[in-house]
This record gives sequence, structure tokens and C-alpha cells, in this order.
Amino acid sequence: MQFNRRGVMLVIASPSGAGKSSITRRLLAEDDNLTMSVSVTTRPMRDGEVDGKDYHFVSLDRYDAMRNEGKLLEWAKVHGNFYGTPAAQVDELIAAGRDVVFDIDYQGTQQLYAKRGSDMVSVFLLPPSIPELQARLRARALDSEETISQRLQNARIEIEHWGEYDYVLVNDDLDETCNAVARILATGRLTRSRQTNLSVFIKGLQAQIDSLQ
Ligand code: 5GP
Repeated sequence: MQFNRRGVMLVIASPSGAGKSSITRRLLAEDDNLTMSVSVTTRPMRDGEVDGKDYHFVSLDRYDAMRNEGKLLEWAKVHGNFYGTPAAQVDELIAAGRDVVFDIDYQGTQQLYAKRGSDMVSVFLLPPSIPELQARLRARALDSEETISQRLQNARIEIEHWGEYDYVLVNDDLDETCNAVARILATGRLTRSRQTNLSVFIKGLQAQIDSLQ
């Protein structure tokens, strides 16, 4: 039996290097009902990134205008650059029953909980150890040593917020973590508050009982 439902806003957060991008990519590939929320950012585009796919790369003026016009669902400054989630697309997808995955930091997660808490499920991923996190950041070869040490300092702050997430997983095996996140999403889809026509169905059941008397 299927009910109409609102989509799940699935936040996957972690210190950078703890595997959130790989897990998100895998979930998106395996789940047709899942869409990635594409953020706006003022940070310069990295090699290999695509405007409109990885981020909407915008000027500071454009970003400020979006924020002032209330077009961002949440926003934050991370590693010296500004980021934000455009509201329009997310609201449309959730209302249509599509699930949306977010790669946002703890500041953004707090704002989403304040605004859209009943639509959310959040997962925080931890690395098995800090040397492992360092090794993953180096292996990715995206950043200079200076940026890597900045990211490690940031990891400390991100990890402090572990208690604000619904689920906390240690990502020491990518397959296992992906399976766990897929199960979390599947459970989130079944939550009572998301089944938008459940009350109509229940009224129907009650009417059937009443008609027996
Ligand atoms: P990066 O620049 O490496 O792609 O992302 C840096 C950090 O910014 C990541 O921790 C990511 O989760 C966070 N981030 C990306 N987009 C958003 C957003 O729209 N809002 C918030 N609050 N954080 C974001």
C-alpha cells in the first residue's frame, strides 16, 4: 500500500575527507528518487568542477542579493567562503515526494532544523581515526598542506556538533556505510508525518467500520 508522501530532506555531514562525497555519489547513482541539492558558493571553481552541477558559482554581490531576498533556505561561511542552499528547487521537490540530499555544514544543518525540521533526517559521518582522515585528505591531492591543516582544524569544530544529528556512523567501510545510509533513508520515507494522505485513508477505514453497525 502506497501513500502520497513528502520527500525526505537527507543531510549527510562530516569533516571533509570522511567519505561524504563518495557515499552521496553512490546513493544518487543507486536511488532514482534522490536528487542532490546544488548550493550556491562564492568560492572559486576547482579543476574538474562543473557550474550548475557541483555548485552554482556566484559573485559575492549575487550571493548577497539572494540572501537578502530570502532565496536561501540556509547559509554559512565555511573555510572563508560563503555557501547557501537555494530554497525554490528544494521546496518543489519535497512537495512532489522526491527526496533531496544535502552536503552542508553544521551551521546550515541547524538552520534547516529550525525551518524544516519535520522534513529532515540527518547523518553525521566520522572517520575511523585522525591519521586516516589526514591520509584521505592527502590522497585526494585537491588541497595544499596549508589547506589540509585548516580542514583538520575545521574537522575539530564539525565533530563537536555530532550530538545535533539523528544518526552518527563511523565510516570505516564504504559499502557498509552506504548500506546503513540507504536504510536510514528508507526508514525516513516511512515516517507517519510524511504520509500526506494517511488521514484520508484512516477516515475511510473508520467509515467502513461505522457502516457495519
Ligand atoms: P567545499 O568547498 O570543499 O566543496 O565545501 C566546504 C564545506 O562547505 C563542506 O563542509 C560542505 O559541507 C559545506 N557546504 C557546501 N555547501 C553548503 C551550503 O549550501 N550550506 C552550508 N551551510 N554548507 C555548505
